[in-house]
Amino acid sequence: MSVKLENYNGKYKIVSLALNSEVRDDLLSDNIDFLYISENAIRLYPEDIVISEDEKVIAKLRNAHNYDVYELWENGRLSEYYDDSSMDNYFFVTAKCNSNCIMCPSPDISRQRGGNTSVNTLIEIAKHIPADAPHLTITGGEPFMMGPDIFRFFEFLRDKFEDTEFLLLTNGRIFAIDSYVQRFIEKAPNNSIIAIPIHGSTHATHDMITQADGSFDQTISGIKKLLKAGIHIEIRLVVSKLNEKDIPNIAHMITEEFLEVDYVSIMAMEMTGSARVNSNKVWIPYKDAALAAEKAALILMEKGIDVKLYNFPLCAVKKEFWTLCEKSISPDKVRFGETCEKCKMRKACGGIFAGTISLEKGELRAIV
Ligand code: SF4
Repeated sequence: MSVKLENYNGKYKIVSLALNSEVRDDLLSDNIDFLYISENAIRLYPEDIVISEDEKVIAKLRNAHNYDVYELWENGRLSEYYDDSSMDNYFFVTAKCNSNCIMCPSPDISRQRGGNTSVNTLIEIAKHIPADAPHLTITGGEPFMMGPDIFRFFEFLRDKFEDTEFLLLTNGRIFAIDSYVQRFIEKAPNNSIIAIPIHGSTHATHDMITQADGSFDQTISGIKKLLKAGIHIEIRLVVSKLNEKDIPNIAHMITEEFLEVDYVSIMAMEMTGSARVNSNKVWIPYKDAALAAEKAALILMEKGIDVKLYNFPLCAVKKEFWTLCEKSISPDKVRFGETCEKCKMRKACGGIFAGTISLEKGELRAIV
């Protein structure tokens, strides 16, 4: 949610929301900036200044939740960062990346020149998030493009969030360097899992997809070192036209070299950014992607490795694999076709990405 507070002309701030006096008093004791939304005014605390009496904005914010976290910009724009009712919250560290994956859902320009969130801002946001948040993701771009300062952020998270599950999305290349593995062990929150993609079973395929020479060796070396150190790992396989035939080979490689992984997620693409620009090179129909995913899932499951299928509509996947399918697309991005209205699996299905629906050529089939 994003709204404008007409009387605000102060500095950029991170603020929590209080919708009742109990939460207001709780946040006052935490000594952080927050907005108290009463019936007829929005007050900025701890200063206790009225910054809006706009009835429409008040009504909108009263539909938000206590302890939600917002960025309040100098021009009065208030944009949501953390939704206390959602399991889908994330810290966005940087848009930059040291790989340049051909099917990345972000555009080239943001990976090359995108902005960072400073470590102090990330820590300030984390100060506002309740310590009992069940799940938080740390993502980019490539979060480690921030450099070693990221460990100051991890240290803060480790000290504040004792039970929160953290999912760190990274290409894993940095963990080829021993000192990064060591510092991660020392500073990471207790309940962390690192999700790392493998795009091919060979240098040739993986590095062709990442468009980064040497990335296969670095990622494989990083995963080995992390597993040896007892870090929890999710391996991600993104199925495209470029690796469709190689996906079962990657599964074999995982069973031979990385049996200790927590689980493997096999994913259909989100066709925005570079993926959209390169769609003639990377797009394959859901049915073909699902076939590759199913073959790989069998290979992994036969060796006792847990598998999840992300971003696949149920009608593209054989029924016997439905129990592996997750509702993985966030609510603001998920779409369904007209045919879905007649589908008896509509409630259980995760749908498809908004950015992908125009490429789906009549594949969705209502299950009746
Ligand atoms: S028809 Fe629609 S709701 Fe049914 S399985 Fe396919 S995508 Fe899901």
